Amino acid sequence: MKVQFSYLGKQFSEVDHILESIRKVALRGDFTLGKEVEAFEKKFAELCGTKYAVGVNSGTDALFLSLKALGISSGDEVITAPNSFYATVGAIVAAGAKPVFVDVGDDYLINADLIENNITSRTRAIVPVHLTGNICDMYKIMGIAERHGLSVVEDACQAIGASLDRKKAGSFGDMGAFSLHPLKNLNVWGDGGMITTNSDYDYEVLCKLRNHGLKDRNTCEFYAYNSRLSTVQAAVGLEVLKDLEMVTEKRTKFAHYYDALLNFLIKSRSQIRVPERVRHKTQVFHLYMVLAERRDQLLEHLLKNEIEAKIHYPVPLHLQPASRHLGYVRGHFPVCEAQAKRVISLPLHQHMTLEEIDYVVAAIRSFYDFKT
Ligand SMILES: *Cc1c(COP(=O)(O)O)cnc(C)c1O
Repeated sequence: MKVQFSYLGKQFSEVDHILESIRKVALRGDFTLGKEVEAFEKKFAELCGTKYAVGVNSGTDALFLSLKALGISSGDEVITAPNSFYATVGAIVAAGAKPVFVDVGDDYLINADLIENNITSRTRAIVPVHLTGNICDMYKIMGIAERHGLSVVEDACQAIGASLDRKKAGSFGDMGAFSLHPLKNLNVWGDGGMITTNSDYDYEVLCKLRNHGLKDRNTCEFYAYNSRLSTVQAAVGLEVLKDLEMVTEKRTKFAHYYDALLNFLIKSRSQIRVPERVRHKTQVFHLYMVLAERRDQLLEHLLKNEIEAKIHYPVPLHLQPASRHLGYVRGHFPVCEAQAKRVISLPLHQHMTLEEIDYVVAAIRSFYDFKT
């Protein structure tokens, strides 16, 4: 059996309905901030329970433009987690600010109890990352932000539809940044992103930031960027959005099946650790990530059995060459660093079967039983 990590071939095996939508865009020549962009934004905002959503060119730009809209610039500090994807820090640095890392907890999410120790007179914002599709402790984070007068931009790129007591990711902070990258739960045929907000003022600013600072065709209020969501991608997004509930349901069902099998295994063997599932949080399982002893050998064993497991990510951001000027060294973030050596993402997507999961878990079992 071959268990693939990528599912795009299966997801887009039937595309006539999407091509038909794109055809309509082409026939109208409505490529720039067209009708579909507005329709998609409206649906996206509804989905997240926010007043507005603004379509942009990527998840990275969603983060960057959010920070820009909040007036973040050089000399400012922005707090985030060291175990995210590069883009989180890339956006902070591109905005001119200095990233300040805070260690994570057993759930791979920023440890809110450590944030206040890292606030200085220069701190302007917190960027919590809802890694794997699991929402951060937004109650604590928003409380800290309020006490210290900080802005919050949620990196919700992996967390479309995730919630905390039924309140959706992207609706807690000043803004939520989403990615529509082909490998995200809600994906388009190239790059795309979305920013959610409840603020009338920020909405106006974001609309100008993504479109050259234009108030209208002949009035440029401030020089800005070209980071519009393409109408073609919005047309794809509108079609793919119809399946999002199914995608989330299936991913959740398969994740719970993994949980049950692995937790049974753990009773006798402790080499695998599944993060605790918290009742008042709804995860959307962008990734199914567990901790494993002898991780690199396990990965090799799984790959040999044609199971496409992956590591997200083996080298934390504070130890990347790009972070050298920030002055962090190994040992600064012990939880994150220990996890980086042990995390493994098992294949999980909406097109899997229970038999494939049985096969993955059997392979894990055989690794620890016979190779110790
Ligand atoms: C994917 C991702 C991004 C970047 O999104 P792009 O659309 O690829 O620019 C940022 N942060 C996190 C946590 C992501 O997973």
